[in-house]
Amino acid sequence: MDLGIKGKKALVCAASKGLGRGCAEALAEAGVNLVINARGAEALEATAAHLRASYGVDVVTVAADVTTEAGRAQVLAAAQDVDILVTNAGGPPPGLWSDWSRDDFIKALDGNMLTPIALMQAILPGMIARKWGRVVNITSGSVKAPIPQLGLSNAARTGLTGFVAGTARQVAEHGVTINNLLPGIHATDRANSLDDGVAKAQGIDRATATKQRQATIPARRYGTAEEFGAACAFLCSNKAGFIVGQNLLLDGGAINATI
Ligand code: NAP
Repeated sequence: MDLGIKGKKALVCAASKGLGRGCAEALAEAGVNLVINARGAEALEATAAHLRASYGVDVVTVAADVTTEAGRAQVLAAAQDVDILVTNAGGPPPGLWSDWSRDDFIKALDGNMLTPIALMQAILPGMIARKWGRVVNITSGSVKAPIPQLGLSNAARTGLTGFVAGTARQVAEHGVTINNLLPGIHATDRANSLDDGVAKAQGIDRATATKQRQATIPARRYGTAEEFGAACAFLCSNKAGFIVGQNLLLDGGAINATI
């Protein structure tokens, strides 16, 4: 299918590895020029070189922490006029509900709620003026079904989801859509570190922890960054203009719900 976005420009945050990289790659395959971001320059440059060589698109890199004001300013300076915005950042650490301080909550809210909101506030006006735009926020299956040990993530991402629900309906008349992608477990560094946490807690090795977690998924495997990226590219496509304010779960059936 021709996604109809060849030659458009996208900002994909936190995109040197994992799900963000999957989204950047699927957009590059559709002919979209990119601004990609991550904190570490080495992996970011390697990803950019791969995308340029494989798809012949322009790729600008911005090595910065997108959850800080200074980092965001650097990212936005390179990406003011983008047609497509994919927000993403690392997730908050696991822990127990009773242990988190106000500072822990502020950090999680900054990273996974206020950062994507600030990026939308900066970029949506240009999209509205140009009468076309696509925003995809990478959130988590935890907004549909809370993950007990990830209370900081449950809280921050649900806040973002509420903001998107209202805002998506305010900008849709201008040809701009905002939707969220909700990953269940995908085979990335983040999944590995969560598997390590399970292994440590239960005194088992990581391979056993991975097997145990895979057994809880009806598809009996983890998702891939490539599958995730394909869903993102479709939501960013010219074909997806009537999909507004939705939360698309990619979890191999893990959350047991009728709708
Ligand atoms: P990942 O494999 O750990 O990749 C994270 C990417 O984000 C890397 O490129 C990393 O590069 C970059 N990054 C992290 N923090 C950043 C920051 N503050 N500023 C800029 N770049 C940053 O993670 P992932 O699995 O792709 O997950 C992406 C998001 O989805 C996370 O928020 C995660 O919590 C959420 N999620 C993932 C899963 C899963 O199973 N994978 C499930 C549910 C939700 P640097 O470290 O160099 O910055």
